[in-house]
Amino acid sequence: MFDIFKKSNVVKGTRNEDLPMTHDGLPDSYRPNGLCPRCGKQSSFEIIGELPVTFSGGIVHPSGGKPYRSYSDKVTCLLCRHCSQGVVVVEEEWIGNQPSRLGYGKGGEISFRGVSWWPLPHSNFSKDIPDEIKGIFSEAVTTYYAKAPRATAVMLRRTVEAITVHFGEDKGNLANRLKILGEKNILQPSLADWVKEIRLIGNQSAHYDPANEVNLEDAKQLMEFVEELMKYLFILPAELNRHRNI
Ligand SMILES: [Zn+2]
Repeated sequence: MFDIFKKSNVVKGTRNEDLPMTHDGLPDSYRPNGLCPRCGKQSSFEIIGELPVTFSGGIVHPSGGKPYRSYSDKVTCLLCRHCSQGVVVVEEEWIGNQPSRLGYGKGGEISFRGVSWWPLPHSNFSKDIPDEIKGIFSEAVTTYYAKAPRATAVMLRRTVEAITVHFGEDKGNLANRLKILGEKNILQPSLADWVKEIRLIGNQSAHYDPANEVNLEDAKQLMEFVEELMKYLFILPAELNRHRNI
């Protein structure tokens, strides 16, 4: 069952057994484990099929096999072992530690790593989040998984803006608006404090432009913050209300 895990993606367990390396990203054939975009659970995946997508111009003559056109992108279908549903991943060829489209670098093991997934994760948002906020956040998530961190940052900042406007704060910079929500006890103080740690919000310079110098890690940090924010401001109070009314 574990033969699909390549050696480089294996870590040792407490009994010196081979275990797949975990990660919080989406699965691909290089790391067939991680977050399932279907069920939202950490899972492992079985590769159930693959087809070439971008042909790179050469012909491969495998020993004993039929010649085939070489390719640099492929589409892989993975089956989630948790929800038993398929996930489609478009993958690009890597040589060693870089995509082959950037050159051969120092050479190394050939692998295929995901660049695009279907379905996109987080497509089922809680009905407790107001629709307009959900719509903006959903665009942020789509661009994040399309590896477009600047677009993600813009949409996430818009999500936070929309959240603060929802609670009546429409003036001043985002960090201040969140601080005021904290002072009004709408926002938990620790969440309001967290804002200072987030470069894309905490930056006090008046004209900070999120379209500059944003990497995926920045975008991820901001996305996690916005998710917590929505959980605290919309989902938990709605759940509490439902319990009260039982
Ligand atoms: Zn699943």
